[in-house]
Amino acid sequence: MAGKYKIPRGTYDILPSESYKRQYLEQTFRAVAENFGYREIVTPIFEQSALFERSVGDSSDIVQKEMYKFTDRKGREFALRPEGTAAVVRSFVENNLANQENGNRLYYLGPMFRYDRPQKGRHRQFYQYGIENFDSDHPYIDAEVIALGYTFLQKLGLQNFILEINSIGSRNCAADFDQALIDFFDPHKDLLCSDCQHRLEKNPKRVLDCKVPSCQEIAADAPSMLNYLDKECSDHFQAVQEYLNLMDIPFTVNPRIVRGLDYYSKTAFEFLNNNLGAQNALCGGGRYDYLVEEIGGKPTTGIGFAGGFERLQLSLEAENACTGTKSAPAIFFVTMGDRAEKTVISILQKLRLAGISAGFDIDKKSLKAQMKAADKSNAQYSVVLGDDEMATGTATLRNMKSGEQQQTTLAELVTLCKNLL
Ligand code: AMP
Repeated sequence: MAGKYKIPRGTYDILPSESYKRQYLEQTFRAVAENFGYREIVTPIFEQSALFERSVGDSSDIVQKEMYKFTDRKGREFALRPEGTAAVVRSFVENNLANQENGNRLYYLGPMFRYDRPQKGRHRQFYQYGIENFDSDHPYIDAEVIALGYTFLQKLGLQNFILEINSIGSRNCAADFDQALIDFFDPHKDLLCSDCQHRLEKNPKRVLDCKVPSCQEIAADAPSMLNYLDKECSDHFQAVQEYLNLMDIPFTVNPRIVRGLDYYSKTAFEFLNNNLGAQNALCGGGRYDYLVEEIGGKPTTGIGFAGGFERLQLSLEAENACTGTKSAPAIFFVTMGDRAEKTVISILQKLRLAGISAGFDIDKKSLKAQMKAADKSNAQYSVVLGDDEMATGTATLRNMKSGEQQQTTLAELVTLCKNLL
């Protein structure tokens, strides 16, 4: 029976048969981030709408058409977070994290919300992993942040991905580039999609990012930011590339990367998997040296990235790479008779207290049904306890894979299990 209610469009359940995959991605990400000296930050899933409007930017698709906004009972305007950086920066400023232990290297995991047309790899509630670094504006930091993303994908065993980097300049040089873009696109204005006509006025770089084929065709001959970088930005970009080379991280320079959000400066980068179809961006990020100040903090440079778990899982599955392992009980008990059942109930609790996962099926009475349940559980060991075992105070541990058996006394069963597992 389907029931009365349906899940909202663009969202999905992570079912128990699949949740180990998500846990694997999360655990791997946490381990890599912690290794690079990052600590987790958890922020609410809703914030004042104005925070996103200000930081993500008025001209971005997110603010223009994708935010889930609501007004609370007191008339305050909130939005479900469409991305993680704005909230982390809000918290960084509000809690003065710059002066706190580990306050400059932060990672997060969690759901984000965007009202967009759902398709493969694009959801309305999706889950991101991300980092933000407020250490310094040294180009080494850019390379190290990229290295963290690269290490994460490597650790997962993903083969099929590429790294593209670009520099989108600073305030000092971006204005000239914007003007060059306006001059370039203006004669073709009528042929641009309506979004791009708007972008051309608000943030011309975003036209380069448009996915509409006719806009892409026009943009193919547009000027490249790399020709407009001032010396500082150009030196910075060169240095980032040198550091990446030192770390043996392969990359290509793609002057078309601008990133969809307004707050970036200097380095921008994306990890892409070209097997994914239209939604091929695995993870993207960049430097945002003005954002902290923009939302009321002391001038502080920053850089970070965010990636989606859904596309990552799709990519790993497409490559038949490991997506984690399902957990299974270490021991499954099969009981015959009341006495054995009571003994098992007491042993189970001792094992679980000792951190050993153990199970049995209280509703199934026949030996056959319980054996079937033991098989289905994928347990490492099974133990059959019946009248004989109760009378002699012994138990036999059977390795479910190899069939090997091991005798022990009931009194020593828990200790043996602790030693074995
Ligand atoms: P963005 O914040 O747009 O730069 O996105 C960063 C990453 O989040 C992308 O590279 C995707 O992996 C993922 N992502 C963004 N939007 C969605 C979405 N609607 N559904 C699934 N993943 C997304």
